[in-house]
Amino acid sequence: MAPLSPESCAMCGKEEARHCTRCKSIAYCSTACQKADWVTHKLLCRPFSEFDVLTRPSPQHYRAIFFPEEEQKPKLIWLYCVTVDDEDEGHSQYGQTAPYLGRGGAGIDVAYNCRLRRKLSRRSRLDHKDNFLADGSKINQSIWTTLKPDMTPYWCGPVVAYGTLKNNTKTRDLSLADFRNIVDHFHTYDRNKRCLISQLEAMVESDYNNSTTNQENSAGGSDCKDTGSNTTNSGEMV
Ligand SMILES: [Zn+2]
Ligand SMILES: [Zn+2]
Repeated sequence: MAPLSPESCAMCGKEEARHCTRCKSIAYCSTACQKADWVTHKLLCRPFSEFDVLTRPSPQHYRAIFFPEEEQKPKLIWLYCVTVDDEDEGHSQYGQTAPYLGRGGAGIDVAYNCRLRRKLSRRSRLDHKDNFLADGSKINQSIWTTLKPDMTPYWCGPVVAYGTLKNNTKTRDLSLADFRNIVDHFHTYDRNKRCLISQLEAMVESDYNNSTTNQENSAGGSDCKDTGSNTTNSGEMV
């Protein structure tokens, strides 16, 4: 199955879908799918429509989502992204999330949607404190609000999400279709850690195997419960 595109229905993956008329940043195939997402989407639909791209502080700033530890809702931010030119590694870019996280940040890729069992055509990155369960961080209120009522608190400390391209060598503006995938990722993490862990292991393995080829692998449709290895590079080629 082809990777899930941001133009497809965010709830069921159907290809024929229309954008939310207010934010134009997520698509749905039907009113039923739009309604099913509304409790989540409403947190950022209006803020997104009012987050003017003309306020971008510089071309190195990209639209990202900040999940504050002690506020009730996630919010849109302009995240400064650092560009690195390395003789061996080439040109790469990453989000400077340290000002939001403090010291000791770590990150994970969101490359797969376990709810829809689909690879994503565009990855996101979640940066968090590297030891948030043991470093005294409090339960992340904004994530909890986003996921209630069907989760037990798991994520602690601040979290920043931003979009990536080309095997994480470039950053991009995050959309609300990405937000839906990130929320699904949070849900998965809480409900079925084994599913995510096996998926991550598969990705790490395939990233390692493909690290020099940078090729897109179109294999998809892996079962979350499998420890299968067909969740692979999904960096968008542009
Ligand atoms: Zn749908
Ligand atoms: Zn919207």
